[in-house]
Amino acid sequence: MRAMRLLSGAADDASLAHDVAAVGVADAVVVMMDSSGRELTRVRDASVPPGVPPQPDQVIRNLTRPALQRALYAALPPGTVVCGAAFAAAKPLPDGRVEVRFEAAAAGEAPPEAAVVDVLVGADGIRSSVRSQLEKMGAPPRRPVYSGYRYYRGLVDLEKLGGADAWVASLGGTNNRIIYGASETCMLYQVSPTHASFARYCPAPEGSSRGVSPAEAKQHLMELCKGYPYPAPQMAEALEGGAIHLGELWSMPPSEEVWGAGCITLAGDAAHAVLPTLGQGAGQGVEDAVTLAITLHRAAASKAAAASGGGGAANAACRLSPAEVEAALRQYEAERGPHVQRVYHFSTSAFRSGVGESWLGRLRRNWQYRLMPAWLMKKATAWLTECTFAWDEAPPAAAAVAATA
Ligand SMILES: Cc1cc2nc3c(=O)[nH]c(=O)nc-3n(C[C@H](O)[C@H](O)[C@H](O)COP(=O)(O)OP(=O)(O)OC[C@H]3O[C@@H](n4cnc5c(N)ncnc54)[C@H](O)[C@@H]3O)c2cc1C
Repeated sequence: MRAMRLLSGAADDASLAHDVAAVGVADAVVVMMDSSGRELTRVRDASVPPGVPPQPDQVIRNLTRPALQRALYAALPPGTVVCGAAFAAAKPLPDGRVEVRFEAAAAGEAPPEAAVVDVLVGADGIRSSVRSQLEKMGAPPRRPVYSGYRYYRGLVDLEKLGGADAWVASLGGTNNRIIYGASETCMLYQVSPTHASFARYCPAPEGSSRGVSPAEAKQHLMELCKGYPYPAPQMAEALEGGAIHLGELWSMPPSEEVWGAGCITLAGDAAHAVLPTLGQGAGQGVEDAVTLAITLHRAAASKAAAASGGGGAANAACRLSPAEVEAALRQYEAERGPHVQRVYHFSTSAFRSGVGESWLGRLRRNWQYRLMPAWLMKKATAWLTECTFAWDEAPPAAAAVAATA
């Protein structure tokens, strides 16, 4: 929701948030149960009065990655995105700008030429090459941490389960389930009018997920879901072996310090990868991107205002020098750091208590969910979903950053 609120401010007419919301499915009630099928709690978004159509940023929206990418891509001017080029290396130039070298993303393609850029943002995932480049330039090394868990996931065509309407009706009008077992979690939620995402986590040694055939993945998933409450076994059955994505759950702790250098910075999983417990990984990347954009925008607006003697040209286009870009990037990292640290630690502890590795841990988890009032749960996570945002507001003071983090 916080990311959606940020997208609401990213376009003059808030159309970007509406475009993203339009390709997603609202998820106003989250149902949590144990593996015997007993409901533990349901988290309801009570902030939207009944009968009032919610704004995009008022309820959780589920959507697939391609749908999100298409909506964001469509909002960009034609020619902004260039495909087929993989980042290879970067070198700071004496004037502060950055020379970037690329290699062909696919075999047989001609490698694109090098480019000199004002800003390099590495948003290239948990195994980021841009982060490796920063390490070669002296940044402290950071390594992904294995959770000890493997995941199976895929998109289920709800037609195979009688159609989306029948499926939602069979779940009592809701469209998701989080099912907590013993060292296992199963999550399913509708992501489009026709499909639902299905994910199952289980303990596995690091590296053991490589070389598993689609048929083996399907068989293992079916065994894992045997005895689980509806609709987990049915959804596992509806997934073709080839449509099951098998992988391992990794995270990467955010840096205690700023995470870039010069005119190079990082965003998303490249800077801080969280475990998927809270569904916050992509959202944190969106928050990074918008915070970075607003920080650069404010720096340019301040420079334009100073150049015009404080007169009415505060929003005029104004090119920042490399030193000013560098200052804005460090400000962005300092602003995001405390928040992503908090999300990282919260996701990690929620993952550990959610999987329920010990008998006592499962007992505590189940009773905690059953006894904690929904308002308290909502209050405890308000910092994660609430934020105020405006493109033109004054930069937040240090105290305000801490309060929203
Ligand atoms: C099982 C599972 C479930 C999850 N569930 C959720 C969820 O419900 N909600 C949520 O918000 N998040 C979820 N996540 C996390 C989410 O997928 C990530 O946080 C998110 O994809 C991170 O986005 P990103 O753009 O930073 O990195 P990525 O999605 O990893 O994208 C990085 C991109 O960079 C490209 N790239 C890599 N190297 C180079 C290079 N050298 N040059 C050019 N390009 C390069 C890659 O091809 C890729 O396109 C889940 C993750 C897992 C594993």
